Amino acid sequence: MMNYFKEGELCAIKVIKKIFVRKLKADGVLHTNKGYIRHGDIIGLPEGSILKTNLNKTVYVYRPTLEDLIMSVTRKTAISYPKDIPYIVFSMGLHSGSKVLEAGTGSGALTIALSYYVMPEGKVVTYEKREGFVRQAESNILKAGLLDYVEIKNKDISKGVEETDFDCAVLDLPEPWRCLEVVFNALKPGKPLCMFLPTVNQTERLARELKRYGFSKPRTVEILQRTWNVKEGATRPNFKMYGHTCFLITTRKLSVEK
Ligand code: SAH
Repeated sequence: MMNYFKEGELCAIKVIKKIFVRKLKADGVLHTNKGYIRHGDIIGLPEGSILKTNLNKTVYVYRPTLEDLIMSVTRKTAISYPKDIPYIVFSMGLHSGSKVLEAGTGSGALTIALSYYVMPEGKVVTYEKREGFVRQAESNILKAGLLDYVEIKNKDISKGVEETDFDCAVLDLPEPWRCLEVVFNALKPGKPLCMFLPTVNQTERLARELKRYGFSKPRTVEILQRTWNVKEGATRPNFKMYGHTCFLITTRKLSVEK
């Protein structure tokens, strides 16, 4: 069955290798360095159509995937990458109905992924201490159509979390040890916590501090992803890759006296 693009819908517009996610407007125009394309030429076409820019470059139009939504956020911070996010979804056991605690929100890329998996029954409560980032994240999450499942708090999470009984927590901030007590109190017993840290020094310190707060022995994982260039008789790994993003450290809230 054909599924045609309508005005007001999100479209992933792929121009050569770059993907732009835009809400289609009758008078909208996407300008790129490979030429421009009018939204009006996309409205009414089926998904997967092929068009040309005014400079005769090929354009493909699709419905955006979660990866497209994340990679197209407007960023003021580093974001969580698609290679790391599936590990969080699995290890945190996310499903529709999960109540997730997150900090810091940053640009909201990870918040988009978390809310995508917990909607429509669940929600993400996310803390961000910098007001400018809160506004940018809110606009990114709204554009992805997921703001109904997200509550953004413009607060430093180490100063306290109002709600309790979270099913899991995810921290992407440089000093997670400063908020371990608060996060411990906000989680249900036995539930998981995942943290992102870029350096070995932070990871060692975190392992030491987790012991003091009643969390289980952490598991530390690094996820490497290498893309390949497939060409008859010349197939090889691509020369460029994301060599390092972060370590992913998971632990659980124990139910014993501290
Ligand atoms: N995962 C996010 C990026 C997070 S960047 C994304 O995918 O977009 C880290 C963010 O943590 C920054 O915006 C920083 O302002 C925020 N932050 C650092 N310490 C914090 C704290 N104690 N409470 C709330 N936010 C904090």
